[in-house]
Amino acid sequence: MKGLISAILLTASASAMAADVTPADLEKAVAQDWSTYLAPLYDHFHRNPELSAVEVNTAARMAKELRAVKGMEVTEKVGGTGVVGVLKNGPGPVILLRADMDGLPVEEKSGLANASKVRQKDRSGVEQPVMHACGHDTHITGLVATARQLAALKDKWSGTVIFVAQPAEEIVGGAKKMMADNLYQRFGKPDYAIGWHVASALPTGTIGLAEGVTYSAADTVDIVVPGIGAHGASPQSGKDPIFIASDIVQSLQGFIGREIAPLKPAVITVGAFHAGSKHNIISDKAELSVTVRADDLETRNKLIDGIKRISVQTGRKWGLPEDKLPIVTVREDERAIPNINDTELTRRLHALYAKAYGDKIFTTVTRDSMGAEDFPYLVGPGVKGVYYNVGGTPQAALDAAKAGGPPVPSHHSPLFKVDGEAAVKLGAQTMTLAVLDLAAKPGS
Ligand SMILES: [Zn+2]
Ligand SMILES: [Zn+2]
Repeated sequence: MKGLISAILLTASASAMAADVTPADLEKAVAQDWSTYLAPLYDHFHRNPELSAVEVNTAARMAKELRAVKGMEVTEKVGGTGVVGVLKNGPGPVILLRADMDGLPVEEKSGLANASKVRQKDRSGVEQPVMHACGHDTHITGLVATARQLAALKDKWSGTVIFVAQPAEEIVGGAKKMMADNLYQRFGKPDYAIGWHVASALPTGTIGLAEGVTYSAADTVDIVVPGIGAHGASPQSGKDPIFIASDIVQSLQGFIGREIAPLKPAVITVGAFHAGSKHNIISDKAELSVTVRADDLETRNKLIDGIKRISVQTGRKWGLPEDKLPIVTVREDERAIPNINDTELTRRLHALYAKAYGDKIFTTVTRDSMGAEDFPYLVGPGVKGVYYNVGGTPQAALDAAKAGGPPVPSHHSPLFKVDGEAAVKLGAQTMTLAVLDLAAKPGS
């Protein structure tokens, strides 16, 4: 009932707008919707996070929210728990808007009143604490906000908008699965694909929008180093896999320093090293879990080839027999391609937002990390894609942290905390403006 009343209010406020929707009108409409409808929805999502690929209740709620938008056709269980809403509004471009909806296996210690206390069995059946520690709750609330605005402003644009609530971003699998479930074939091939991510390192009220590569390619690699077990007091009788694997770990960093061009970003991180059972036993196996990052395919392939060569040759160097050399496995299902923002669309949106808000809306994103995203999997050939960041921390808090005050918690931290209201509002406004511009009615 509450939803119905605010939907009516929203329609009334939208239809009262002048022929052209000004950014100020839109800001007012989103702010009004926040106070009457979106705030409790965001609160609900924040309190009730779900893990990757098991976002069952979140998906059901997103389906319900999108169905409540007049004219929306909603399909559930696309590529697992994915939800797709299609809003057809006459001839014109097809625009895909994406929000990812999964939380993380992190116990929330943000101190927020609506902190999550949820525990859930993950996709392998292991119970975990769950938290929206990456801010995906702002993305899905923002997607609902955008859908409600665009429905209310239907006479201002012409085209089709595909709303995608995507599962399993944190395991880099959800977008791929939705595509494998024939997303384009079933709901239409988009001309444009747009998504945004809240960023705790960026000030509220700003966006980070850049051309070219904004997220890196990522690969998950397992290295198994066989050994020959022996007594710890007689190393000459065995082959010590801990020693050999340690040499591999060291050599991988040397490989980046000596074989990858200095101006090509590349990271190899050995995140886990498991071997052995007791002080005086030489183990028969060591296992390394590795993440690999690059900004282009050529560098990525060079890194993967290098990891294979160094692992195998290090095994040979220390005398492992030919049938017991290290084995390198690249997990194809956990692979991410780089996100490359389309130049033309990025420039068009940049001009649009500069006109709407002035240059103060833009913040510089310093890329000092090689994070990955699976949004680019939704951007097929011939589709112009842009993925941008929306500020999540008040400038004062960022300034205080810089001056030695309390640090701003990073994404995936138990302390992670963003200004959800600011992110949802600006995310929804910028996404709505993008559609109003890209699908503008001729002559408007
Ligand atoms: Zn994340
Ligand atoms: Zn995220």
